[in-house]
Amino acid sequence: MNIINPATEEIIKTVQEDSLALLHEKYAVLRQAQKEWAKKSLAERLSVVQRFFDLLGVETEGLAAVLTAEVGKPIQQSRNEIKGARTRISWMINNAERYLSEELVTDTAALQEKISYEPLGVICNISAWNYPYLVGVNVFVPALIAGNAVLYKPSEYATITGLEIERLWEKSGLPDGIFKVAIGGKETGEALLDLDFDGYFFTGSYRTGKYIYERVAKKMVPCQLELGGKDPLYVANDVPDVAAVAIGTADGAFYNNGQSCCAVERIYVHEDVYQAYETAFLKEVESWKIGLPTEEVVYIAALTRKEQLDVLEDQVQDALSKGAILLCGGKRRPGKGYYFEPTVLIGVTNEMKVMREESFGPIIGIMKVKDDQEAIALMKDSDYGLTAAVYSADGDRAQRILGDIDAGSGYWNCCDRVSAGLPWSGRKHSGFGATLSHQGLRAFVKPKAWHLRK
Ligand code: NAD
Repeated sequence: MNIINPATEEIIKTVQEDSLALLHEKYAVLRQAQKEWAKKSLAERLSVVQRFFDLLGVETEGLAAVLTAEVGKPIQQSRNEIKGARTRISWMINNAERYLSEELVTDTAALQEKISYEPLGVICNISAWNYPYLVGVNVFVPALIAGNAVLYKPSEYATITGLEIERLWEKSGLPDGIFKVAIGGKETGEALLDLDFDGYFFTGSYRTGKYIYERVAKKMVPCQLELGGKDPLYVANDVPDVAAVAIGTADGAFYNNGQSCCAVERIYVHEDVYQAYETAFLKEVESWKIGLPTEEVVYIAALTRKEQLDVLEDQVQDALSKGAILLCGGKRRPGKGYYFEPTVLIGVTNEMKVMREESFGPIIGIMKVKDDQEAIALMKDSDYGLTAAVYSADGDRAQRILGDIDAGSGYWNCCDRVSAGLPWSGRKHSGFGATLSHQGLRAFVKPKAWHLRK
């Protein structure tokens, strides 16, 4: 399998995909080793995770360079990602004892009732490429803390990073056979669905997630899906500084070249502030530097996958054919690398692909609305339900609107944000189950109820 730098189209490495026999071997090793890992105290397991956290800090620069070479992410954003992953790990380390220790529920002279949390066993984590550290850490860190062994399948577009993560676990002193990486693409993922894991934790597209859920249903083990989104954002007419909102929300739409599951993908703006918003938004987008992701000042770099260029071009054509207006961008850039110009479409409607299907690229549709009711109806009109955002001076107004929308996260005066202490979960085609927060720690354990009559 060739690993291609999406910004230069050069082959940076050739790796051997795992054979079926090797995958079976890895699975058997994990199965055997997990029992001993589960017997270790929580403190012992946490000390290994702490070393992993430290190493991510020590090696940030080298790891960021690998990530940027492999997925095309601007180098500043690669560093940010590793920093963000460390923030999450730190939260997990600090809260594991609180949420994974035995809980005494009843303690009388005659009866004791308590809950203990046991690891699921050996879990399979099939992952995405857009934030390999962040979405990986959401799963494999709490899984390991809880005493599970993990087979981690990085995306084929983030293979070297996956191997780096494996190296860091080894260096952290994780016992042999507790964390293994499966190398390969779709076929490797398929093969993992045939093995008897005790849980499947998937991050990726709706299409693949649905397929995996159907395939593993008969195993009767937990299956958690973190999938895509078409996240709406509404700018109300009482925002005090329209230009500041435009700048902040443009970042929410275009950060990581728009390749974030919780990227702003649809914008609805109240007619009273629409023109000021559109002008400031366009000015911001046109100020960004496009270029090689290794350059410090570059904000828009190459997309990770070449095929996405076709998806974006198709969305632009579809929108224009239905009456939208192109304010900027709209096409791929000539020359080497999978570059797409940052694209802003106005005069869009919810009937256009750009407002319905996940774009996962540097493109946005902005639509004028007459009031909150129209905005709510349009925001709700989606198969996805990952996040939704409202910008307004009035917190009650924003929370009323957000409370009406079937999404896993609601943002007031912010967007495109994840917090370690809050559950990260989707609804509808964005998936189900939660990572992060105490719910995310408990996603990797089975509760046991103890009824102890004295
Ligand atoms: P993808 O579905 O193409 O691939 C995800 C993983 O599944 C990869 O490792 C891939 O090799 C594997 N895979 C593909 N086909 C498979 C099959 N038939 N059987 C088993 N495994 C298979 O998604 P992607 O392009 O890697 O990631 C982008 C998607 O992920 C976007 O939709 C994005 O919104 C979503 N995402 C969601 C979150 C979240 O937290 N909700 C986070 C990051 C990304």
